[in-house]
Amino acid sequence: MNDSHLLIGGKTLTGGGRDDAEVLDPATGVTVGRVTHATPADLDHALDAAEKGFKAWRDTNADQRTAILLKAAGLIRERAKDIGTSITREQGKPLKEGIGETIYCAMLLEFYAQEIKRIYGRTLVRPAGSRVEVQYHPVGPVAGFAAWNFPALNVMRKIGGALAAGCSTIVKPSEETPSAGLALVQALIDAGVPGDAVQCVFGEPDAVSRHLLASPVIRKVTFTGSTAVGKHLAKLAAEDLKIATMELGGHAPVLVFADADIDKALDTMAAAKFRNAGQVCVSPTRFLVEEPVFEKFRDGFVERAKAVKVGNGFDADTDMGPMASARGLERMESMIGNAKGQGGKVLTGGERIGNQGGFHQPTVLSEVPVDAEIMNEEPFGPVAIINSMKGEDAMIAEANRLPYGLAAYSWTSNPARRRRLAAEVETGMLAIDTGGVSAADAPFGGVKWSGYGSEDGREGVLACMVTKTVHEG
Ligand code: NAD
Repeated sequence: MNDSHLLIGGKTLTGGGRDDAEVLDPATGVTVGRVTHATPADLDHALDAAEKGFKAWRDTNADQRTAILLKAAGLIRERAKDIGTSITREQGKPLKEGIGETIYCAMLLEFYAQEIKRIYGRTLVRPAGSRVEVQYHPVGPVAGFAAWNFPALNVMRKIGGALAAGCSTIVKPSEETPSAGLALVQALIDAGVPGDAVQCVFGEPDAVSRHLLASPVIRKVTFTGSTAVGKHLAKLAAEDLKIATMELGGHAPVLVFADADIDKALDTMAAAKFRNAGQVCVSPTRFLVEEPVFEKFRDGFVERAKAVKVGNGFDADTDMGPMASARGLERMESMIGNAKGQGGKVLTGGERIGNQGGFHQPTVLSEVPVDAEIMNEEPFGPVAIINSMKGEDAMIAEANRLPYGLAAYSWTSNPARRRRLAAEVETGMLAIDTGGVSAADAPFGGVKWSGYGSEDGREGVLACMVTKTVHEG
């Protein structure tokens, strides 16, 4: 059993009559731990501490702050196997992915640590004796709410940029996958971040977010999760005009043109699709394939989907683990049923595997009409929809048809087309001839219903800062 407690003001809090909830292993359905829920009084303590922690942390000098965050990154690297193991146990992804996710958190923190020294203001030209300075200041205490699909990375994205900016943070990892986020917060405290400046709470999500966002202490909210919850939190934030970063759902299109390297596209996109059982906000989902290469691409993708080894994430040869929750599995079953009812063809997969755990077959659908639910709502599971398309204009129009705009992918060897895609596809991130849309130094975020604001990159730090212009006569 691996229980998760609260970390408030640097203190471990659990028991004492507090509610708790069980944490399940999605591969077996077995209880693997319990997570303590914060009481309203706990949340008030966290808010008081965050206010104090903000004043202490923002006044640390850049060298000191950089050194502490680098030390924390080192501790996270040292603890990567343990943290990765907790990710696999609570979320189900293959252990190598859990460890890789943890290392990525360390890389992100290392980037943020260095970026502290690049928070420049500027001085405007004025006559001698007077000047105007543009300064950046940390916005204040930040409340972060992270989803379960990347139990560590989502949390680091909430707290890394905020801490680099000089903000204090209260983060709520998902109660379904609590251990990894808690371990990151502990590593930051062990490295020297004051316990008032980085805190970790759990509870009933809506009650916790309402409580924290109702407080004037919190000056920024940052959330990763569904568009529906993001809109709800954005409204709560608006009550007090708190600034917000919203990293919400996507429905990534993949535009495959006849001039592309099809084998490379297939290898890259099939691996990207089935990573983390498709429970990735940038997962490629709507494959729009130009007619001349449609059959080759479709058949090659089916072949690769059939080769994916599904199993327990702790088995060394597993490519794809279970889905993280029964809720996700039911969503897949319902969407695939709806697609079939509308005339869509199941080319491989389409069913859950066994009755224990959340295992689902890697699935490929084709000829799915655009009004099927799965062509409009994010399936967030191991399913690709491969449809034949005629010409660039129709492909771009289909890519832009949905209100989502997080990631989009394209495969083409035509340089002029690459530029047109960059101009016309409505998306926060566009990957051309690659499957990668994330790097520590590159901003990550969406447009339209996929949210606003960026995490990672210098934008991830600036998103936690406000501008102050100082005029001196
Ligand atoms: P959800 O939005 O209900 O939950 C996502 C996370 O937000 C969970 O960890 C949950 O604890 C938390 N949450 C929920 N309500 C909250 C609230 N009122 N205040 C604060 N936190 C809250 O999504 P879900 O049911 O877990 O998944 C449904 C869909 O959400 C998915 O199919 C997918 O489309 C989307 N999703 C997107 C991402 C992403 O990376 N952008 C991550 C998870 C889920």
